[in-house]
Amino acid sequence: MLLEPFFAGDGLDRADPLRADPDAIARLRDQPDARALAWYNGAPQVDEDGRLLWQAISDETPVFLGMEEGAPRFSILPDGTAPIDARAHFALLAMLDPAQAPIFAAALSLANWHRRHRFCSVCGQETLPNRGGWSRACEGCGNEHYPRVDPVVIMMAEHDGSLLLGRSHHYPPGRYSALAGFVEPGETIEAAVVREVKEEAGVEVADIRYLASQPWPFPSSLMIGAHARALSDSLTIDRSELDDARWFSREDVVGALAGDDNAAFQAPPRSAIARTLLEAWVTGLK
Ligand SMILES: [Zn+2]
Repeated sequence: MLLEPFFAGDGLDRADPLRADPDAIARLRDQPDARALAWYNGAPQVDEDGRLLWQAISDETPVFLGMEEGAPRFSILPDGTAPIDARAHFALLAMLDPAQAPIFAAALSLANWHRRHRFCSVCGQETLPNRGGWSRACEGCGNEHYPRVDPVVIMMAEHDGSLLLGRSHHYPPGRYSALAGFVEPGETIEAAVVREVKEEAGVEVADIRYLASQPWPFPSSLMIGAHARALSDSLTIDRSELDDARWFSREDVVGALAGDDNAAFQAPPRSAIARTLLEAWVTGLK
């Protein structure tokens, strides 16, 4: 089964070989069809039809995002060092055209990384954008730093036809979603799934299967969707991590995805890979 989470897709041609060639990038910037992504309130700007807004190139467009049907696409680095609150952008995600979402994710994640990595982690000196914005170079020690991607496992643990879903303390009332957590250094995806479900819900799982992945640009996660078989349905919930966790039947999940008034829970929004995983599960994923 091919799963297509929001933010997944082709996006721009990243044209990697051009990044190391400043002269080539300068020529692209001078092309009449070159455009720079417009930003508003810390995120790429989206028009009424959910499409990204592009504007004329300025001198402050250090990021070469790639090529869109042969036309060069650049971005500025928006001001500000404060971390962006993902919840402030959810209204934007609700209207964003899914075909444009991969470009949105790449541009925002890259901007978030620049925003948070202005100084060298080796020597503490200031760093400057390099390689068309796909790295930062340190003027002090010469090290080059690359954008980071943080892997997060997100999993549907299943027991006897029911799914384990939980809710974080910051979720809106009634919302339940798949359990998730960061992969730690030295860990496989499978080990992270086993550990997270055990830590958060006290449930042992086995038979981990990869399902789909999703870039999540708040600030730079890669969500790795998995299915796991739970060895029991007895829960010991870590209330510091979760507000609640429960088992839901297929009927419960179908009702939640349909948005029924009397649904057992409120499903995650379409921008969340958790929703894609739930949709796959109710249509016959074992
Ligand atoms: Zn340095």
